[in-house]
Amino acid sequence: MQTLALLGATGSIGEQTLDVISRHPERYRLFAVTANTRWQPLAEICLRHRPAVAVMADPVAADALRNHLRDAGSDTEVLAGEDSLEQVAAEADTTVAAIVGAAGVRPTLAAVKAGKRVLLANKEALVVTGQLFMDAVARHEATLLPVDSEHSAIFQCLPGGDDPLAGVKKLCLTASGGPFRTFSAEQLGAVTAAQAVRHPNWDMGPKISVDSATLMNKGLELIEASWLFGLPGERIDVVVHPQSVVHSMVEYLDGSVLAQLGTPDMKTPIAVALAWPERIASGAQALDFTRMGELSFEAPDVQRFPCLALARQALEAGGTATAVLNAANEEAVAAFLEGRIGFMEIAELVNRALESVLAPRCRNIDDVMDIDRAARRYVAACLSSRDE
Ligand code: NAD
Ligand code: MG
Repeated sequence: MQTLALLGATGSIGEQTLDVISRHPERYRLFAVTANTRWQPLAEICLRHRPAVAVMADPVAADALRNHLRDAGSDTEVLAGEDSLEQVAAEADTTVAAIVGAAGVRPTLAAVKAGKRVLLANKEALVVTGQLFMDAVARHEATLLPVDSEHSAIFQCLPGGDDPLAGVKKLCLTASGGPFRTFSAEQLGAVTAAQAVRHPNWDMGPKISVDSATLMNKGLELIEASWLFGLPGERIDVVVHPQSVVHSMVEYLDGSVLAQLGTPDMKTPIAVALAWPERIASGAQALDFTRMGELSFEAPDVQRFPCLALARQALEAGGTATAVLNAANEEAVAAFLEGRIGFMEIAELVNRALESVLAPRCRNIDDVMDIDRAARRYVAACLSSRDE
């Protein structure tokens, strides 16, 4: 029996994790669930899944949740604030890191520093902290398992064993291309937030949906893959594959390419990470090769989707450039979702932040989070001077 802390329980990954674990009550016991400000969906989760603890990042929402659960006769204990997020992240056998954005850095690292089994969906945490994160994994002997479908695919196609990269030449990340893959530059200038959050293949939270549409998601995944698997950016290719059936590939020195395939359903990589090295049913539909139709592949167009090139550039620059990239992107995406800026301005703002915000190498997380804040302030200043 594994105990589980589910950070970001009310999100898309959180919901799908609850679906998978509820199929295996003999294997998993939910210890803690967490959410940000919306307490009603967390209340429903508490009543249905009966975790020992629930944490709301927002203290006012925590009070509302506590009152509601008491009236409903629930015995789930309710805690509030960021310290409590870190506390529960470090208490279970396994922590599912499914908070969106840099807000997940500290809770995810708390699980790592407690030497836990950490299931990483929150790619931004790794993109922001990079070497510090991987050093903490090694020092505290945490077990880091990818949830991102591409990284799960690569993890499954790598040789395993003592030399994790034995015979490996390159990794290849597949990208769906997002909802605007075939749009002209002119059309991209006019797309709305409502169009951007409607992904053709995956059902995801709003931020990652916009990242998918700009290809920043693939850029973040390139950085994530570089840290997870210990390969430089030039040994990681990206190919657009609109059907999202091949979830990523590993190319070996002898010319073999191993790929992992499946229907586009996050329950598969979630189940892979939960049960590893065993295999459990996930509830995902099986692939039907006779109905699948054509699988196609094409090169990404970094002219129309410059975010991918910006991410590669930040990875190569090193230091905290990837923290600047991520923070600027989070702020720009939020502005786009609020209708304050156009789609193509996301890349422009990220580019300006990379050119203007100093990104030195940092030796601790507090310093990295200072850089994150500086990049956010820079984007906020750009936005307010633009609004004047
Ligand atoms: P989502 O927006 O659906 O959910 C985000 C969760 O994080 C919610 O539970 C929310 O309450 C919590 N949260 C947000 N801000 C917070 C804060 N400041 N403090 C504490 N909690 C906060 O997002 P999602 O689509 O589930 O994605 C979660 C993570 O998983 C992201 O990093 C994303 O890139 C990654 N991911 C998602 C998918 C997918 O299919 N959804 C696939 C691969 C990777
Ligand atoms: Mg992915």
